[in-house]
Amino acid sequence: MKHLNDSITVLSNVGPKRASGLKALGIETIEDLLSYYPFRYDDIQERSLLDIQDQQKVVLKGIVVSPAVISHYGYKKSRLNFKMKIDEAVIAVTFFNQTFLKDKIQMDEEIAILGKWNAKRRALTGMKIMATVKQTDDQYQPVYHVNKQIKQSLLVQLIKEAFENYGDEIPEILPFDLRQQYRLMDRKQAMYQMHFPSSEEFRKQARRRLAYEELLLFELKVQGMKYIGHQKIGESLLYDNQKLKDFISKLPFELTNAQKKVTNEICRDLRSPHPMNRLLQGDVGSGKTVVAAIALVATYLARRQGALMVPTEILAEQHYKSLQELFQSTSIQVALLTGSTSRKERQIILEQLKLGTIHVVVGTHALIQEDVEYHNLGFAIIDEQHRFGVNQRQALREKGNGVDVLSMTATPIPRTLAITAYGEMDVSQIDELPKGRKPIQTRWLRLNQFKQALQFCKREIEQGSQMYVICPLIEESEALDARNAEEIYRYLCSYYSDENVGLLHGKMPSNEKEKIMKRFADNEIQILVSTTVVEVGVNVPNATLMMIMNADRFGLAQLHQLRGRVGRGQKASSCLLLADPKTDIGKERMKIMEETQDGFLLSQRDLEMRGPGEFFGKRQSGLPQFKVADLVQDAPILNVAMNDAMKLWENGWRDLTEYQALKEYVDHHSVTVFD
Ligand code: ADP
Ligand code: MG
Repeated sequence: MKHLNDSITVLSNVGPKRASGLKALGIETIEDLLSYYPFRYDDIQERSLLDIQDQQKVVLKGIVVSPAVISHYGYKKSRLNFKMKIDEAVIAVTFFNQTFLKDKIQMDEEIAILGKWNAKRRALTGMKIMATVKQTDDQYQPVYHVNKQIKQSLLVQLIKEAFENYGDEIPEILPFDLRQQYRLMDRKQAMYQMHFPSSEEFRKQARRRLAYEELLLFELKVQGMKYIGHQKIGESLLYDNQKLKDFISKLPFELTNAQKKVTNEICRDLRSPHPMNRLLQGDVGSGKTVVAAIALVATYLARRQGALMVPTEILAEQHYKSLQELFQSTSIQVALLTGSTSRKERQIILEQLKLGTIHVVVGTHALIQEDVEYHNLGFAIIDEQHRFGVNQRQALREKGNGVDVLSMTATPIPRTLAITAYGEMDVSQIDELPKGRKPIQTRWLRLNQFKQALQFCKREIEQGSQMYVICPLIEESEALDARNAEEIYRYLCSYYSDENVGLLHGKMPSNEKEKIMKRFADNEIQILVSTTVVEVGVNVPNATLMMIMNADRFGLAQLHQLRGRVGRGQKASSCLLLADPKTDIGKERMKIMEETQDGFLLSQRDLEMRGPGEFFGKRQSGLPQFKVADLVQDAPILNVAMNDAMKLWENGWRDLTEYQALKEYVDHHSVTVFD
C-alpha cells in the first residue's frame, strides 16, 4: 500500500547519501517532498531591452563581446565582468562571487542570463546563467532551497516522480462548503501547481488555497487552545470590591478611560473560575504598571499571593520601588528577588514566600527557580513577556494551582502578529496615554550634525534637563562602523566638562549598572550614555532629551521603545536621531519616526518593512514557520481563517461529518504553534 508517509527512499536513485541530503532540507517522507515548495519563481521568458524596467529581474539573451574578467576585492569577494551584445546594444554584466562561471562565458557565443537590470548604468547583475535553448514553455521557473547533495534539477525530478506515484494519495481535507465559499482550488491540484505552475494565475490560486489551509490549521489549533482554556476550571479570586475601589481612589492620579476598561477586564478574569490567560498591550508610558498594581491589590484582598516577573534587574528594581510606593496605603508586603539578591536575603525571602508573609514578589527569572515555593500563588504577571521563552512563562504558571496569568508588553505588536503569536490569549489594550503628555519632538539629523545636536542639548541641560545618549554597540567594531558607547562617553565627558556623565552597558556587573541608574534617577548625573539596556521600562521623568546614535541600526519598534524613555514628565521632550541611512527604506524609516508617535502604526510599518521574522528578533518570536502563508501579505486570509476557526470550535467541528478528513489530518500532523 502506498502512503504519503512512505520514506523518500522508495523513489528511484535515492540512496542513503541523497536521503541524508534531503533530510537536511527537512524532507523525509513523500509528503514532506510534495510540500517542499519553491521559495521563488524566476520569470525566465527572455525580454527585450525595450520593455524592462529598472531593478526588474529578467532574462536577457545576447552574444558575449568581451572576455570575462575577474577582480578581487575585500575579504574573499570577487567580481566577474564582461560585455554582452543584444541586437545592437551592448550592456555590462557583473556576477558577484561566482568566479566559477568564467568558463561558461565564451567570446562570440550566445548566452542567456537571469539577473537584475540597472537601467541607469545599463548593466545586469547576474544571478545565474540560463540554458539558451529553452527546455520548456513555462514562463516561471521554480527555485528551491537546496544543498550540496541535492541540486535543483534532482529535486525537481524527485518531485515529479513523487507526483506520478503518489499524486492520487493526496487527500482533500477541506470540506466542499468551504472550498466553494472561497472558490479554492482542490488540494492535489494546488500542490502540483506550486511546483509546476501552468500559468501565473494558477500559481496564485494554488498559493491562496494552500495559505488558507495552512492558516486555518494553525488557527484551529490556537483557537482550540483558547476555547479549551475558557472551559478550564481554576479558582475564583474573590476580593472586597469596595476595598479595591478605596485603593484606586487614593492613587495620585485618576485612571484614564483605557486603564479603567482594562482593569475591569482583568478583574473580571480574576473573579471568574477560569484561569486568566490575558495579554495587556499598551504603548510605552500608557500606564500598565498601575493597572498591574491594582490587580495585585485585588489578589492580596483575595488572600492570595502575586508575582511580577520582568526581564532585567534594573526593571525589577524599578517595579519593586513603584509598587512599594503605590502600596504605601496598604499592608501588602512586597519583596524583590533577582540574581543579585544575596544568599542570605534570598533564604529569608524564600521562607517568607512559602509561609505567605510576603504577598507580592517582584523579580527576574529568579522567581521561577526550582527551589522557589509559594504559599498560594494566585496571580502572576509577566512584563515584556516576549522576552521570556514559552517554558519560562509556563514555569511561573506552574508555581501555583490554576494561576491567573497576565502577560504585558509595551512592544506594540501589529494585529496580525498578535493574533498569531499570542492567539491563544485574550487581549486587553490600553490605547490612550494619560492626559497632559507632551508629544516628543523627534528630529532626524545627519551624523555630521552631532556637534550641533550637542549644543542644543547643552542649553537644555543647563536649564535642568537630563539626557540619554543611546549607542548601538559597546565595543569598537570596524565592520559596523558604529559609534560605540565608550567612545561617545569619553567624548561627552570632555564636551560637557561641567556635567556628570555616566556610562551604562550590558557587560557591566549588575550592581554597577544599578549604581549608575540610581545616580541618573537621582539627578546626580545628567547625561547617561547607554546601549539599549535602558530600553525597557526605565522611568526618569526629568530626562527630557534623547539622542540616538546610528539610529538606522535599530528597528522602528525599538526606536519607539527607546524614545519612550523620555516624555514622561511635565516638560516637553526631544528625541534626536543621528543617522546616515544608505538606502531609501532607511531614510523613510527615519522620516516615519519624525512623523508619528503612534506605536501601533510604527510597528505595522516595521513589520511591513522588515518582515515577521526580523520584527521580534531571532528566536524570541514565538511565531510559527509557515510553508506558504506570509503574515504580512496574507493578513486578510489570516483574519478569515481565524474567524472560521472560532466558529468551527463553537459548532463542535470535530463531530461534523464533512470535517472528518480535516480532523483526521489535524490529528496526524503536528501543527507547531510556538517555537
Ligand atoms: P508603562 O509601563 O505602560 O510604560 P508606566 O506604568 O510606567 O507606563 O507609567 C508611566 C508614567 O505615567 C508613570 O510615571 C505613572 O505614574 C504615570 N501614570 C500612569 N497612569 C497615569 C494616569 N492615569 N494619569 C497620570 N499619570 C499616570
Ligand atoms: Mg512598564
